[in-house]
Amino acid sequence: MSGTAITRRGALALCAVPLLGQARPRVAITMDDVRWQQIPEARRAEAEERLLSHLGKTRAFLFAVGSHVDNAHGAAILQRWSAAGHHIGNHTYSHQALFGKITPEAFERDILRNEEVLRGYAGFRKWFRFPALKEGATRELRDRFRGFLAGHGYANGAVTIDASDWYYNQRLLARLEADPGFEVSRYRQPYLDHILDRVRFYDGLSRDVLGRSVPHTLLIHYNLLNALFLGDLLQRFRAAGWDVIGADEAFADRVFQSRPDTAPAGESLLWALAKETGKFESRLRYPGEDDVYEKPLLDRLGL
Ligand SMILES: [Zn+2]
Repeated sequence: MSGTAITRRGALALCAVPLLGQARPRVAITMDDVRWQQIPEARRAEAEERLLSHLGKTRAFLFAVGSHVDNAHGAAILQRWSAAGHHIGNHTYSHQALFGKITPEAFERDILRNEEVLRGYAGFRKWFRFPALKEGATRELRDRFRGFLAGHGYANGAVTIDASDWYYNQRLLARLEADPGFEVSRYRQPYLDHILDRVRFYDGLSRDVLGRSVPHTLLIHYNLLNALFLGDLLQRFRAAGWDVIGADEAFADRVFQSRPDTAPAGESLLWALAKETGKFESRLRYPGEDDVYEKPLLDRLGL
């Protein structure tokens, strides 16, 4: 199948919303972790250049993990992203998610430790993103962290469109490690298909649960995969009639004030809002996204 045919098919599917007479759907890019060390050294400089150039003047939100950026190279990244007009949010210092052994006290210290690393950058804003989108296993813990974040002036940098780009990237890196001559473009179409499939799913939830297409925050990661293909993804959105907007503009929507009553808390904000209604069980797997859902496909493709 030609690339053009695939593009048209994807565009038509994503066009469903504007054709129904609603406003143009909107999406913002939020990028997590800033684990620059994982990008192979020989490709790093070009990859990091490409990440910034794909975004151009579109303001993204970079949720940084302190342990990855608490060094000279990490500082240079945060300075460049700040200078380019992007915002920087807090994603904890050590990226321990709330499903492990970490105590609530240690988790809170991890947030404040990261603030010390990030607070000096011009782009820093008090938006917090939970590692792995886990916000507390019980209502008690969930409410404790909501109170803690509010008390420290933070808003929840929630995700509306979750995905497993991190897993595609992990597989790509393993292939390159085993075969440095591997043709990386083989990942392009599967990556685009995966993200656009998740876009359709979560935008569908938005319309069915809330009666409207919210301005979305897409979660992807600062990695080689996105350095290669984020430009293609943004082009695909625009071709399908979506507006790619600033992350601060998306976060200004009232949906990000929601406090869904679910436990365990977390996942995509739309997943949680759907869960809270009790009406969408057949559409809600748990966790919302994970490598186990993607492995059979990538195995089948020989990737
Ligand atoms: Zn993360």
